[in-house]
Amino acid sequence: MFAPLPDKPDHDALEREILALWERETTFAKLREQNANGPRFSFVDGPVTANRMVLGVHTAWGRTLKDVFQRYKALRGHHQRYQNGFDCQGLWIEVGVERELGLNSKREIEAFGLAEFARRCRDVVVRSSQALTEGSVRLGQWMDWGNDYFTFSDTNIEYIWRFLKLVHERGWLYLGHRSTEWCPRCGTSLSQHELTQAGVYQERSDPSLFVRFPLAERPNESLVVWTTTPWTLPANVAAAVKPDAEYGRRENGEWVAVARYPDERFATRALGQELVGLRYRGPFDDLGPGGEVEHRVIAWDEVSLEEGTGIVHIAPGAGQEDFELGQVNDLPVLSPVDEAGRFYDAYGWLHGMSTSEAADQIVGRLAEQGFLLEAGTILHRYPHCWRCDTPLIWRVTDDWLIAVGDLRQPLLDANATVEWTPAYMGKRMDDWLRNMGDWNISRRRYYGLPLPFYPCECGHLNVIGSKAELEERATRPVEGLEELRRPWIDEIRIRCEACDAEVERIPEVGDVWLDAGIVPFSTLGWESPERVPEGYGTGAAKGLTTADLPDHAYWETWFPANWVSEMREQIRLWFYSQLFMSVVLVGRAPFERVLGYEKMLDEHGREMHSSWGNTIDAPDAFQRMGADVMRWQYCAQPPDRNLLFGFGPGHEIQRKLLTLWNSCKFLVDYANIEGWQPTWADLENGPDGALEPLDRWLVERTRGLVAEATAGYESWLSVDVVRAYEAFIDDVSNWYIRRSRRRFWDADPIALRTLWFAVVQGLRAVAPLMPFLTDHLWRVLTAPCEEAPASIHLAGWPAQAEVDTALLAEITELRRVVELGRQARATSGVKLRQPLRALVVEGAPLAERHVEEIADELRVQDVAFGHVEASELRVKPNLPLLGPKLGKELGAVRSALQSGDFEELPGGGFRVAGQELSADEVLVEREGKVGWAVAASDGVTVALDLHLDDELRRRGRVYDLIHSVNTLRKESGLEITDRISLTIPDADADLLEHQDWIARETLAVSVETGGAELALARSNAA
Ligand SMILES: [Zn+2]
Ligand SMILES: [Zn+2]
Repeated sequence: MFAPLPDKPDHDALEREILALWERETTFAKLREQNANGPRFSFVDGPVTANRMVLGVHTAWGRTLKDVFQRYKALRGHHQRYQNGFDCQGLWIEVGVERELGLNSKREIEAFGLAEFARRCRDVVVRSSQALTEGSVRLGQWMDWGNDYFTFSDTNIEYIWRFLKLVHERGWLYLGHRSTEWCPRCGTSLSQHELTQAGVYQERSDPSLFVRFPLAERPNESLVVWTTTPWTLPANVAAAVKPDAEYGRRENGEWVAVARYPDERFATRALGQELVGLRYRGPFDDLGPGGEVEHRVIAWDEVSLEEGTGIVHIAPGAGQEDFELGQVNDLPVLSPVDEAGRFYDAYGWLHGMSTSEAADQIVGRLAEQGFLLEAGTILHRYPHCWRCDTPLIWRVTDDWLIAVGDLRQPLLDANATVEWTPAYMGKRMDDWLRNMGDWNISRRRYYGLPLPFYPCECGHLNVIGSKAELEERATRPVEGLEELRRPWIDEIRIRCEACDAEVERIPEVGDVWLDAGIVPFSTLGWESPERVPEGYGTGAAKGLTTADLPDHAYWETWFPANWVSEMREQIRLWFYSQLFMSVVLVGRAPFERVLGYEKMLDEHGREMHSSWGNTIDAPDAFQRMGADVMRWQYCAQPPDRNLLFGFGPGHEIQRKLLTLWNSCKFLVDYANIEGWQPTWADLENGPDGALEPLDRWLVERTRGLVAEATAGYESWLSVDVVRAYEAFIDDVSNWYIRRSRRRFWDADPIALRTLWFAVVQGLRAVAPLMPFLTDHLWRVLTAPCEEAPASIHLAGWPAQAEVDTALLAEITELRRVVELGRQARATSGVKLRQPLRALVVEGAPLAERHVEEIADELRVQDVAFGHVEASELRVKPNLPLLGPKLGKELGAVRSALQSGDFEELPGGGFRVAGQELSADEVLVEREGKVGWAVAASDGVTVALDLHLDDELRRRGRVYDLIHSVNTLRKESGLEITDRISLTIPDADADLLEHQDWIARETLAVSVETGGAELALARSNAA
């Protein structure tokens, strides 16, 4: 006996039950033990940021894909690493803690105390890592929880130090002085790759000002410039013109580019180069720094004639291109704002104001003094801090950078060895590598990797490569260093190796992508002399993980990763930083294959934002749709398109999964009636004995599914597995079971064996995608088999057999004919139960052997294969294609088509009005002649004869009657095997002609007429 199944699954309850079973039966440990000597498959987990207190559905997506492919590889016997990682440093963590503590600036953090701040940051990581673990376990992700790596461990930090020291030894590390994007709230610069993250560029409304710069030597003449950042005007030192562009002077003395104002009349015109060298008065010359500058017109080929006035205001202290232009033209650099984006004291009445506060004041002042020509607003895309959403500004600062010049080609070469899915993501990586600038690795923050740079006044830069080296070179004994981190590390001074002077560390911390990029080395024990049990739990990670620090031999074994997977955004982030660090350290890519995927949006295609109330937390989704349904939604998504995730699509999937559930329930119900038992060996070999053609087809269909699923997993496309399975389960339910009902009523053991084989093998094919439901159904369906492994996840991958593709193609064609027949019926308005006289089929030769099944399915008496005479052909020109092609001829073609004056050509084309048109140049409609219904697709056409006679009508009424009786049986609570005595209304007496038929279909032992109502009673007669 099988345990009976309820009408539908309660996903949440069922999943929690399975989780408890896995725990009790130590299923995952058994799986790993089973595969311990198998071939290796190396996966390296990209660390998840440990700053959220609940798993989000977007994080659950990536976790699902990782789990799916690891589970598949495990079913195939692969020995694997299951180490999860947490990203623990940087602004992600800091900004959260600042909010919690109500701190608003770096000054306030320092007043709060860096040691306590660091402890609070660590505490966030501790709590978040617990919450994320809990959510991931509930999702069904099998990882080596508790042996995680944490990027804030001293071990990880030391590995990055080694990397940086090597970079320095090779001469690639330098302190750059340049203009850079700066977050005034966070008080730090950002690197180029941080600006590529989602959400950085946002629509924003800014002032749009046209400002007059009076020319010094030409009274009553002025230059007109345009700016959207008023705060940069006090830093103005030059105005740039395009040397070969034409400029015009208006009657009132204002100079602008002619190309920008083509309709204006100018008093005089001049080339840009004639204006170069002219001096002008700056609008803020009354403020100290501006007054000391000699403002002049310079030449710049890049001046845009697409926007503004064609004269560009240049402030090298407040813009990237401005700064570079300033270097070339030897311009002074005025830096108007401090780290917090507030004006320095030297700027008089502006001092202490933020750049946005200053904007209004500046506009007012310009107007007052006659510099302002026009003030409006502009809506444009402007960069924001990816962490705190503050609009960025530009500042000139000193940042530590890694020069990428020497590395660009080796990086491109390394990327060429990587197999990317989807392939275009590999090209994106190439584009990035070709265009990236030097890597800005320093951040003026607190909770991050301490950069081990100790510059000395003698000019020597000391770079420390390990904790041991730090201790050795420290000027005083290093004791009780809580963590290799600020503020503790800042107290340690070392001796300069060049001049023996005492030097201190720079205060900056490192870019977080260094933390994650080093993972393929720091977690695998690269150049580690020996394995240290539980050795990864160092520094801040102490007590959080029991992961070992492996030795170098281990690294050799597991590096490079066979496969990694993250969302597309990581191309310029984690994939990049890993590739970069790996090419520096060992000259090759750290991964062989990558699965990337696009973004998640809500089900209506909008970004998910907590302020819009459309974000979903995973625990909510577990409860309302179930982890399996979420996973199915993730896996059904082609990775090259955005996922529209939500409860609506979740319901749709639940509905689809009901087809699977109902098929299993059908099997269980009928098997239990007869006490039928499955045979374990059937699973590997397929059922034997006297199989009917339909059984043989289902066996082949199942083998076909295993082959398709294997191909899907092997090409990292879960979507292919999902599609194959959905088609398969539709075939099982809507073809095999439908066509075999009578055999199940008769408890035909071959039908039961065949269905059991198909359903159970099918579950195995999708076990990695949907680990709970498949394991639950596996446990129900294999319970009678002693040999069956306790869990589907311990059962290995189904054996693959040669597939009879010809047979599969034949039934596919048969199902298409039936499907088209149903469509034709649906358009005709004749109900399904009404038998019809004839069906004509054209273009489906493989289905010809299945005339009886077609007749039965479509309830027609006669099925003929041949030309569909019944159809009328309507052909219209496909205008977007034919318009340009035919030009004037189009009219003649169109009227010939309209009057039916054309000839059909093989291959779907037409000859008309002296033209040959291909199949895609015309739109073809086939319409039935009066009394016929036609449907066509993919080269198959069917036509249904809709003419009814008395006998057809009577047979239609018999079908109606059978349907009513069976509905009544269910309503009366009869078992499916109960026999009945049936009384039909007197008005239906003429149907007694079909008495035997009615009795057979309703399990009636007697059929009589009487009264006006249908009536039935359970009969005790056998
Ligand atoms: Zn910020
Ligand atoms: Zn020195």
